[in-house]
Amino acid sequence: MYCPFCRHPDTRVVDSRTSDDGLSIRRRRQCPECGRRFSTTETASLNVIKRNGVVESFSREKIVSGVRKACQGRPVTDTDLAVLAQKVEEAIRATGAAQIDANEIGLAILSPLRELDEVAYLRFASVYQAFDSLEDFDMAISQLRLDHGTTA
Ligand SMILES: [Zn+2]
Repeated sequence: MYCPFCRHPDTRVVDSRTSDDGLSIRRRRQCPECGRRFSTTETASLNVIKRNGVVESFSREKIVSGVRKACQGRPVTDTDLAVLAQKVEEAIRATGAAQIDANEIGLAILSPLRELDEVAYLRFASVYQAFDSLEDFDMAISQLRLDHGTTA
C-alpha cells in the first residue's frame, strides 16, 4: 500500500501481530523512501445483507440461534450447533465474497444440517424454503430417500 506520508507506492512490513481474539492482524509498516512507520489492521470482512436491506456483520451466534429452533427435541448438542455454524462460516468464506445475502446463508446451512439431523433439516428447510404444501415436504423427503439409496 501507499505510504501515507510521502505517497511512495511501496511499503515494507516490519512486524505482524495477531489480535488476542485471532480475528485481526496488526502490521507495522515502514516506508523505504521516507523511512517513516505506520500501522495497519487487517480483518477478513464478511457482511450479511438481510432481506430488508440492512447490512450486518456475519455472526456464528445468529446461525446457531436460527438453527436451534429447528433442532428442538432432537439429539443435537450445543457443540453440534457450534460445529455447524463453523462449517457454514467456512463454506461462505471459501467463496471469497466479502458480503452475501441472508438467503445464501440459509442455503449454506441446509447441507451441514442435513448431515447433522434430517428431521431438523426438514423443519429448517420448510421455513427457509417456505414449504406451503404437503407436496413440498413429500418432495424433500423423497429426495432424502433417494440419496439414502432406498425406495419409498
Ligand atoms: Zn514514505
